Amino acid sequence: MQKSYRLRIKGIVQGVGFRPFVAKLAGKLNLNGYIENREMGVEIVLFCAEKELETFLHRLKIEKPAPSKILELSCEEIKTKNGEPDGFIIKASKKNGEITAFIPPDIAICNNCLKEMFNPENRRYLYPFTNCSHCGPRFSIIKKLPYDRPLTTMKEFLICSQCESEYTDPDDRRYHAQTNCCPECGPRYWLETEEGKVFPEEAVSKAIDILEKGGILAVKGIGGFHLMCDPYRESTVQRLRRLKDRPFKPFALMARDIETVKEFAEVSSEEEELLVAPSRPIVLLKKKKDVFEAIAPGTDRIGVMLPYTGIHYLLLRRLPVLIATSGNLSGEMLCAENREAKEKLSHISDAFLFHNREILNRCDDSVVKVVDGKKVFIRRSRGFVPEIVPLPVSSPSKLFCAGGDLKSVFGYVKGNAFYPSQYLGDLQFKLNQDQYLLMTGRFEKLFDLNPDVVVVDMHPGYFSRWLGELIAEQKGAKLVECQHHVAHVYSAMAEHRLESCIGVAFDGTGYGTDGTIWGGEFFFVERSHYHRKGWFRRVVMPGGEKAAKKPDLMATAYLFDAGMSLALEKEKLVQAASIKTSSVGRLFDAVASLLEICHENTYEGEAAMKLEGVASRGGGRVFLPFGLVDSEGAWEVDLRETIREILRLKERRVSIGELSYAFHHLLARVVLEICKKLRDEISENNVCLSGGVFQNSLLLSMCRKILSDSGFFVYTNEQVSPNDEGIALGQAYFYMLKERDLRW
Ligand SMILES: [Zn+2]
Ligand SMILES: [Zn+2]
Repeated sequence: MQKSYRLRIKGIVQGVGFRPFVAKLAGKLNLNGYIENREMGVEIVLFCAEKELETFLHRLKIEKPAPSKILELSCEEIKTKNGEPDGFIIKASKKNGEITAFIPPDIAICNNCLKEMFNPENRRYLYPFTNCSHCGPRFSIIKKLPYDRPLTTMKEFLICSQCESEYTDPDDRRYHAQTNCCPECGPRYWLETEEGKVFPEEAVSKAIDILEKGGILAVKGIGGFHLMCDPYRESTVQRLRRLKDRPFKPFALMARDIETVKEFAEVSSEEEELLVAPSRPIVLLKKKKDVFEAIAPGTDRIGVMLPYTGIHYLLLRRLPVLIATSGNLSGEMLCAENREAKEKLSHISDAFLFHNREILNRCDDSVVKVVDGKKVFIRRSRGFVPEIVPLPVSSPSKLFCAGGDLKSVFGYVKGNAFYPSQYLGDLQFKLNQDQYLLMTGRFEKLFDLNPDVVVVDMHPGYFSRWLGELIAEQKGAKLVECQHHVAHVYSAMAEHRLESCIGVAFDGTGYGTDGTIWGGEFFFVERSHYHRKGWFRRVVMPGGEKAAKKPDLMATAYLFDAGMSLALEKEKLVQAASIKTSSVGRLFDAVASLLEICHENTYEGEAAMKLEGVASRGGGRVFLPFGLVDSEGAWEVDLRETIREILRLKERRVSIGELSYAFHHLLARVVLEICKKLRDEISENNVCLSGGVFQNSLLLSMCRKILSDSGFFVYTNEQVSPNDEGIALGQAYFYMLKERDLRW
């Protein structure tokens, strides 16, 4: 029987060719009806039988354009006053001033566009800005909503008549493609050498020449600039390291295609899926043997991405793999403006490949890895932002969550949607602070966000906190604090819609409620209430904040605590230190130094990463002891005997691989023991693991296994990073539960 149905779809369904796709699908199925853009997505009305509706929905979900994302789909039978249309039509968007909530992230060039780009007969032959309604830049070029060309940086480029006719033809792939352009009307590249010579013609072939001769090239892409060079030229790689002041930190690679990647790295099916996804993140893969030691020294992983815009494909035509590292000064976000790049990167790059389309919202490449078949974000940025994270509760307030400082990401909440910003870097750098400020303004405009509550970290010295306080004052908003590690736990709870759990937060450093530095914490969380139920025995941080860069200083602190004798000057240093920490990140540093793996962090997490790398050579033949001390209803982990045992075994020449493996296993056993004790006390079976330390694949995997084997349900971050990028989400969920608890 013929009925009429109304479908409402929320998600990324605008700016990705969704409406033409739906119209075509309805046409194929001979269904009458219409589709139109609405505030939160699209609305479809269909006149058909129930069976036909089922087929339609089934195919909709399977065949939808790759970059689109359905977050919510509701369907109801309706009575329509208007008659049934003849065929299926796309209704013009209603201009009712409402803001469309979801704009897509930047999308890698699609296969159809690629085919055109490499077809000599096509009018877009070798045109690096080729895109269509299914692909191309989105978030990085948008200023305001609605997502229309005049409100993007494409407004500078007057569309030509041929592009215009594609734009207005419902049967064309470029129907309503706001970024549509061609060599006649669109942006263009040119090459500029270090000496200031400009080559508007043959820019790409000249650029390739430079790469082939061992030069370093600064290339403007989608989210900003890359520095690119040939990874097989040792001298070039060393020059890049020297000029970038980056002695050991791994560089990411961009490889021509998936086959090329498989020549030097192991690729699981999950990893392959991520590599080829329209978001095109850098995926941390296991190296085959000892390849690319100079690119990623001392680790068994290599970060690889596939090309995601025309210029990348052009540059990779002759060289199959390129180093593609952020074009930035150490610590800063990547450069996005031509003049800025020239100022900052001239001493590094031999030439610039500039283009004349402005990048409004700069985004670093995202970085992910796969652990136990699940995605773990190391950095969530280009290709993912501004996708929302749906929350399990809804707030009557609008929230601004300032996040943390070291890996800053802020987030807004409207209703039950969390809007995380892109990765904005370390806020001790002025450029990053400026970008943070700029992006708060842009997010407020883009998504109509005007907070009446501001949530900040407790750290009195954080820039994000200072800014949060300022915003709260300016807007007359309420200011709320959320402890750093508590926020980590809530971030995982939010993703998995949990209301209670045992929370384990391991990370570098965060400000504790008692004024000490936390980082190895166990909580029992129930709704908005949390109790700290365990921690690692605190040791001092010799030299204060400096200790984070000096694993050898942390080793000294642990040795002193374990009662080992020290050289007099070291003992003095430890005794002079006043700040204490329970940080597992610092513990990793100490052990890496004790095992002679790394005495200095030239980049954040270096010692821990190398310790993990070495552990893959071990195999569980050594067990390390640990102590648990009951401390007024909570548990303190005492590792003094562990440290002494590590030294004894090292003297007996047990391999560092074996010891490193044993150390990881020890931590997993500590987690299990405390979780069991807490379960006995409060009958809680859900465990959330969060914090930067859980980016460690081996530790995460061990914890998951050991806990699951004992009947726990283990939850980790999959939509935001477990590191400090995830803090803002946790701040949001913490406040929302608190707000709800108060209402009840
Ligand atoms: Zn395309
Ligand atoms: Zn054109």
